[in-house]
Amino acid sequence: MKLHEYQSKRIFARYGVPIPQGDVAITPEQARQIAARLDRRVVVKAQVLVGGRGKAGGIRLAHNPDEAERMADQILGMNIKGLTVKKVLVDEAAAIDTEIYLGIVIDRARRRAVMMASAEGGVEIEEVARVTPERIVKIAIDPFLGLQAYQGRELAFGIGLRKELVGDFVQIAQGLYTAFVECDASLAEINPLVVTDEGRLLAVDGKILLDDNALFRHFELAEMRDADEETPEEQEARRHGLSYVKLDGEIGCMVNGAGLAMATMDITRLYGGAPANFLDIGGGAQADKVAAALRIILSDPNVRAVLFNIFGGITRCDEVARGILTALKEVPTQVPMVARLVGTHEEEGRRILAEAQMITAATLAEAAQKAVAAARANRPTGRE
Ligand code: GDP
Ligand code: MN
Repeated sequence: MKLHEYQSKRIFARYGVPIPQGDVAITPEQARQIAARLDRRVVVKAQVLVGGRGKAGGIRLAHNPDEAERMADQILGMNIKGLTVKKVLVDEAAAIDTEIYLGIVIDRARRRAVMMASAEGGVEIEEVARVTPERIVKIAIDPFLGLQAYQGRELAFGIGLRKELVGDFVQIAQGLYTAFVECDASLAEINPLVVTDEGRLLAVDGKILLDDNALFRHFELAEMRDADEETPEEQEARRHGLSYVKLDGEIGCMVNGAGLAMATMDITRLYGGAPANFLDIGGGAQADKVAAALRIILSDPNVRAVLFNIFGGITRCDEVARGILTALKEVPTQVPMVARLVGTHEEEGRRILAEAQMITAATLAEAAQKAVAAARANRPTGRE
């Protein structure tokens, strides 16, 4: 789950990271009032869950409250990379001398959190990593020791920070690390962390990605969710406890188990097809869950065939088969369906589905080939 800039910065501030004063507005009038209260130059910033807002025209400087109102009026309702701006952050403007990047992510290969800093702040860090990777300094953090002060200094020296700012930088780095750990984040980033004209460090932009699997123990963070982050289908999937990711292929996949779902997508590709989604219906396979999954898959107009791949362990294949039939009654469709059921009571399961005119298969390879063929045959004429 992604947090907005204003949410991320407020969290950082609780850990001692200096942020500009400011507040959020949902109307131009509110933006004017905030600017009047701050009584100085402000920046009006679109709050949407994508990067590169600056380049897209979603960040504007305003010299007085009237201008702030006008800027907010222009930015609110703007479309940035497919997202409509519904809120703006009105912050006191910083007089920027230099822009630094400071961020932390999990490095799976090292099995550690890694903090990264770069003197090339303000621009996308992926771009810096691609063009001038030597300009990024990285430090792996021991989970039992946390970010040590000497490591913070190493980062500061590595990016050539002025000596008199090193102490503050280390505190910010440690605050960012603690915020990252305590929120169960998968990413926490300040880009840019600026050096102001007056020689102070200030977090001008902030970004936090939260680990969805840890949200159950962060009620106050879970409540910050912006519904616009997910498509209606993804929201529906989450309500039913399904893991769903939309892709752009034409074979809808319904699978129990994440690993099996990935294997299913791989083998679909191997036989020349393209998966329309990742979908893990999880353990058990109650009809209502299967029906919800089927509705979500079929709401994608690109889907030309559906591939069910079910492994019956504790879940019995005949129960799953009945679940599928009940779901099909609820969600009638002409899209061809291929099912591969393996495991407990598989013969019974297959018999039930075959009676219902579904294409069945005994192996995953066979099922994938049949699904690819069915999808091809079901393409609108004239398309290859
Ligand atoms: P992003 O484009 O979505 O990453 O949004 P940022 O908040 O990082 O802003 C993009 C750029 O706008 C920054 O790198 C700065 O150069 C500039 N910017 C943002 N806030 C201020 C500010 O308060 N004063 C000035 N002068 N520039 C700012
Ligand atoms: Mn930024």
